[in-house]
Amino acid sequence: MIVSLKEIMAYAEENKCAVGAFNTPTLESLNAVISAAEELDVPVIISHAELHEPWAPLDVIGPHMVLAAKNARVPVCVHLDHGEHFDYIKRAIELGFTSVMYDGSALEYSENSANTFSITEYAHALNVDVEAEIGALASREDGHHSGGAVYTDPELAQRFVEDTGIDALAASFGTAHGIYKEKPKLDFPRIEKIRELTGLPLVMHGGSGVSPEDYRRSIECGIRKINYYSYMAREGVFAAKKLIEENPGLTYFHELAAEAEKAMKADAMKAMRVFSGK
Ligand SMILES: [Zn+2]
Repeated sequence: MIVSLKEIMAYAEENKCAVGAFNTPTLESLNAVISAAEELDVPVIISHAELHEPWAPLDVIGPHMVLAAKNARVPVCVHLDHGEHFDYIKRAIELGFTSVMYDGSALEYSENSANTFSITEYAHALNVDVEAEIGALASREDGHHSGGAVYTDPELAQRFVEDTGIDALAASFGTAHGIYKEKPKLDFPRIEKIRELTGLPLVMHGGSGVSPEDYRRSIECGIRKINYYSYMAREGVFAAKKLIEENPGLTYFHELAAEAEKAMKADAMKAMRVFSGK
């Protein structure tokens, strides 16, 4: 069934766990994530990143995501990840997404907070929840914030939450988007402080590739949503490569896609087990 982000965050709060948010820019990743959550009987968040638009236009993949959420046997929140443009966010809401992230983290505080406030006001009037970000993650993927990470200032985070009325906060404390070149070092006291001052469910971006111990400790400190994608997507590539190497005469793409889906599902299940404590 399709649910709001708030409902999923309330579940995470109650169970002292985190819920995985997986990007699903292909039907294979969408099936992999939903069937993984159903098999483990855990709620899940499926998300579409604005940055994936060239490969998976929102108007094409969005309706599939909403339908998959409605048909699922577990609670599913349909979320827009890193929305940077108001029109794009509005379109996701029109398509039936139950939650949106506005990412104004590259902007000055006043502009980020003013934009986030307007979007929150708009979304809340339509019963859609909002995640926003303050501070910046190091990133190698999208060309943003190429100057490296700006860790979230807990006091500024408190002000941001009060100024904007958001429902979940993405914070920067040592994770990075993409594949890690070295083991990330997370600033746990910072997560605790942000949590204490804001009282909101916190979101870990760049969540795939973090060790199980660090996931658990982050959850203890107040992380309730973990964005997970790169490592799952890479598992799909590894499985597809292996199938081609073992079957040089492979003809049908659907066989390749199915193999990748199976590998992504296994990886998503591994992550969900750690996040949910199941
Ligand atoms: Zn992110």
